[in-house]
Amino acid sequence: MMSTAAEKSPFLFNCHELPRRAGEMREYELTFEDHGSIGVDLLAIPGDAPIDVDLRLEAVAQGVLATATVSGEAVGECTRCLEPLTFFVQEEFQELFYYEVDYRQKPKGKEIVVEDEDELLAMEGDFIDLDGPIRDALILNLPINPLCKEDCEGLCPGCGLKWIDLPDGHEHLVGDIRWAQLDGWQGPNS
Ligand SMILES: [Zn+2]
Ligand SMILES: [Zn+2]
Repeated sequence: MMSTAAEKSPFLFNCHELPRRAGEMREYELTFEDHGSIGVDLLAIPGDAPIDVDLRLEAVAQGVLATATVSGEAVGECTRCLEPLTFFVQEEFQELFYYEVDYRQKPKGKEIVVEDEDELLAMEGDFIDLDGPIRDALILNLPINPLCKEDCEGLCPGCGLKWIDLPDGHEHLVGDIRWAQLDGWQGPNS
């Protein structure tokens, strides 16, 4: 099990320094740089871009409580004007990783109440796999429609140029009777 996870997850962390005594605590500043692209086509943290994780591990009765601040910089393009942009993401998460014994062997007379078994995170030996929590924290904070700036005016649908580069009053009115009456007007393509 452990080797399988180690092969597929870039966010495995070895907790061997943390004694399995409730109340013990360790803190780490980690940087991950080989994790595959995180995000969507329009906006993603490149696969080799640093993802910083300030991690606090606390031993509790059932396992290891991981509290983290994760941050990274996504690159993409503005959905309105297609300019390249970067977007800084920072988010916190807290997850409990159960000791394997707690997870797999329910003590007699006790039920571990789990809302959804799939969401229960278990340690794998001394390892915790931060992959899910880190990806969720980052992806859920990436805007679906990234903008270079809040009030980006986007592109003129007529010529595809940026509104910001076009003169005031720029329009495409081919066949528009109102404009046909204006002598001397010269369109941007004339
Ligand atoms: Zn824009
Ligand atoms: Zn135009």
